[in-house]
Amino acid sequence: MNNWNFFNPVDVAFGEGRFAEFADFASKFENKRILLVTGKSSMTKLGFTGKIKKFFSGNEIEVFNKVEPNPSLKTIDESAQFARLFHPDLIIGLGGGSAIDAAKFCAALNTNPGDAKDYFYDKKEFSKPATTLVAITTTSGTGSEVTPYGVYTDHEKNLKQGFSTPVFFAQKAIVDPSLTVSMSKDLTSSTGLDAFSHGIESLWSPKASKFSQLFSVEAIKLVYENLINTIHKPLNIELRTSMSHGQLLAGYSISLAGTNAMHAFSYPLTVKYNVPHGTACAITTVGFMNAVKKEKNKELQMITCAIGADNIDDAISKIEQFFHAAGVKKLSDYGVSEEDLDDLLDGTNVPKVKASFPNFNEVKIREVFENSL
Ligand code: NAP
Ligand code: FE
Repeated sequence: MNNWNFFNPVDVAFGEGRFAEFADFASKFENKRILLVTGKSSMTKLGFTGKIKKFFSGNEIEVFNKVEPNPSLKTIDESAQFARLFHPDLIIGLGGGSAIDAAKFCAALNTNPGDAKDYFYDKKEFSKPATTLVAITTTSGTGSEVTPYGVYTDHEKNLKQGFSTPVFFAQKAIVDPSLTVSMSKDLTSSTGLDAFSHGIESLWSPKASKFSQLFSVEAIKLVYENLINTIHKPLNIELRTSMSHGQLLAGYSISLAGTNAMHAFSYPLTVKYNVPHGTACAITTVGFMNAVKKEKNKELQMITCAIGADNIDDAISKIEQFFHAAGVKKLSDYGVSEEDLDDLLDGTNVPKVKASFPNFNEVKIREVFENSL
């Protein structure tokens, strides 16, 4: 708790207008090859892809725009093939966590041999640094622009899982809230809930320190105080700035202390029931908090304080109301029934839960799912 390390090499530009300033950074490039890794359509529709092309005029720029939400290993391999033919000097990940996570793996595979599965499953080490990576975030949830993590889906195995390597750190990140105003109500909600979950899980993680908890508590507070208003006033830049700030701090909190329970429960909900990532984390939060009330009393007191509740029970009830206001429903509303619980358990990364909660066995996990139905 009192001994900790902090390594975060990402050069972050935060605030409204920072994307426009990216033109200055780009102007230093000439006759280079730039690869933009992004999602299928919104970045083009919103004009961001066009702006980046303009910033880098005088260079050769190619776009890999096939990244789907919760990127698959197959897409990662495709992006790597694309990159290896193009030989980029710089890779830019533009979009939400999905595009940024895809760009991270693409940048690492561009300089290292093999395919995604070698590193994802076989724990092969990257022997060379990745291609220089810039992460430009357009959502306010994952904090991926400052984390060493990437989260990927293997559709053949119906499995979603994350992994961590310092090779995944971007060199530069742009967190400009004005890029997030176009998010729909649902996307604003699910991404904000992801950041909220990052704050909570990192706060009670065994890897937490007094230092990491500063990030966790502030992230929880910022998201709790601003998410619902942001959903209703999507164009309000002050609210968007608070959300971007909250998600960035939450990103630091997980890069220090990691995620655990709700993230582990969320993966089968996303892969099998298509529940957006942050919403999938929120669904089991209240059930899990009730289950660890004694064990995590001190941390729940900190959450109580962060959200201005009277006591732990009041905090849990306020968080339930907060989720309701953010549009989170019960598991059954997403098509999960009692008979599906074993299947959900099957898709849950139980070792990830046990690494932080050694006493939390399969029976208890099943109970959390059951209480969230
Ligand atoms: P996302 O999956 O990146 O994006 C969801 C959708 O939002 C996409 O369809 C995208 O459109 C659209 N979109 C993105 N920005 C937009 C904007 N400004 N306006 C309108 N639409 C926009 O969402 P995310 O929640 O940011 O990322 C989730 C992924 O990150 C999950 O796989 C999750 O597990 C992972 N994650 C990673 C970390 C980490 O540290 N690496 C941490 C937590 C979560 P297009 O498809 O057209 O681009
Ligand atoms: Fe997350």
